[in-house]
Amino acid sequence: MTDGVAADFLPMLAAAESPVGSLVVSVHDVAPITRPSVEKILTDLKEAGVRVTSLLVVPDYHHRGKSVDDATFISWLRGLEADGHEIVIHGYFHERPRRQSEGMREKFLTRAYTQNEAEFFDLKYDEAFTRITRARDEFRGARLSAIGFVAPAWLLSAEGERAARDAEMQYTTRIATVIDLLTGEREPSRALVYTTRSAWRRTASLGWNAALARRVAIGQLVRLCIHPSDIASRNVWKQIIRLTRRFSRTRNPTTYRDWISEERVTRKLL
Ligand SMILES: [Zn+2]
Repeated sequence: MTDGVAADFLPMLAAAESPVGSLVVSVHDVAPITRPSVEKILTDLKEAGVRVTSLLVVPDYHHRGKSVDDATFISWLRGLEADGHEIVIHGYFHERPRRQSEGMREKFLTRAYTQNEAEFFDLKYDEAFTRITRARDEFRGARLSAIGFVAPAWLLSAEGERAARDAEMQYTTRIATVIDLLTGEREPSRALVYTTRSAWRRTASLGWNAALARRVAIGQLVRLCIHPSDIASRNVWKQIIRLTRRFSRTRNPTTYRDWISEERVTRKLL
């Protein structure tokens, strides 16, 4: 009897004491032009229980000017880094020029799916390496310590992944995996992400993510990815905040940087 009660009761106690699993909230497309939206996003996330995020910063968003040249933007990022947020390199221009001879797959992925933003979708090794190292050096020069590289829309060619590793990036992510570029470990975890470009996409996004949220809840790592435009869409933002509250109650909110370093320790111990 006593044993039965203990067996039933102890797991609940353990669950209440220590969160099971991790939650990484990432904010994509951070640049001087999106900063006002990102600030509102971070305020709402904090109220919902998430104080640290991975901030995917674009070095020269759509050729509008280098992010590191904006001194107030950089000091804002440094402050966020000091508060525990992580700065991640997110593409270089976040833009891919259209090409003449594109097949259906290329057209779908680069035009319909990402609106010509899939910069690293088919970049050759040399160009990918040049852009990532340029971003790395610019960020280092601005005293920002980025160790991760994420391609726009997660579309990263195999050559691009190799270039990121050679450019001393420690990890990258795709829509369904987190890849440790130092150890080669690949953690499967499907990202929750919204599209807000049209009414039907928003509606589809809400249904898809509600279902996906139930599916990913059993995994070790939950990834919630936010774009600056999400906060302008009432229903999308309500769902994002609801999911943030739900996951942050039972999981440890962290960044990719910290999650990966903990993973390396855990894997060594196993
Ligand atoms: Zn992006």
